[in-house]
Amino acid sequence: MVALPGSGWPGDPADSSTPVAHNAVQVAALAGGAATLSTLEARVSVCRACPRLVAWREGVASSKRRAYADQDYWGRPVPGFGVEHPRILIVGLAPGAHGANRTGRNFTGDRSGEWLYASLYRCGLANQPTAVAADDGLQLLDTRVVATVRCAPPDNKPTPAERDTCRPWLAREFEFLWPSVRAIVVLGAFGWAGLWSAMRALGMAVPRPLPKFAHGVEVALPDGPVVLGCYHVSQQNTFTGKLTEEMLDAVFTRAAALAR
Ligand code: SF4
Repeated sequence: MVALPGSGWPGDPADSSTPVAHNAVQVAALAGGAATLSTLEARVSVCRACPRLVAWREGVASSKRRAYADQDYWGRPVPGFGVEHPRILIVGLAPGAHGANRTGRNFTGDRSGEWLYASLYRCGLANQPTAVAADDGLQLLDTRVVATVRCAPPDNKPTPAERDTCRPWLAREFEFLWPSVRAIVVLGAFGWAGLWSAMRALGMAVPRPLPKFAHGVEVALPDGPVVLGCYHVSQQNTFTGKLTEEMLDAVFTRAAALAR
């Protein structure tokens, strides 16, 4: 069962009249033609341009994890979450199969989100440390969270073609957000590459050579925001101790300072 547009899912930006992209050309046209951020969110949330990802996200929503067997799943692309004019932008990889793909909100309902939002709360960038459902009252302060690819992929690995097909959604969102953003925190190497790629697609200057991803690296863009690299909050990193709470807090403390 997938949440139908306009069916009353908390925060659903779409309704039955929202146009649906079925291929890469239509993604580019609908993203480029979105006059407002809310229109973009609605169009993203009903996209069906990547057949493999559509089948996967909806299959997961239908089969479910046993612990969530009594819940409906969102099962659709996940739009950005947070304020409309953020000073801090967080760029992730893609929705989690039983997290954002279940709840309909980025990093909500899984271990990755527990780490991310607890850190944002400790750093004064969220009103509560937990994120369990789209209507749980979580509000971000001066911050917005977006994914490079908007559908949950198998094994958390979108293909290059899926990444490229989804890029116009990210690029158009950047256009709306760029004027206010002072710091961009990129979670992991996939998002790091996605950021430069989206900037290039917008005709923006990118550093030459492209800076390598590393935790804690900072890149000050001329006349633009500062880009901060951060290990992804995936369990692969948090369970193994590659990323600690202190390391995560240090990145967001720095981002908050840049935003001020
Ligand atoms: Fe559409 Fe992006 Fe999902 Fe592909 S990954 S179906 S382009 S939202």
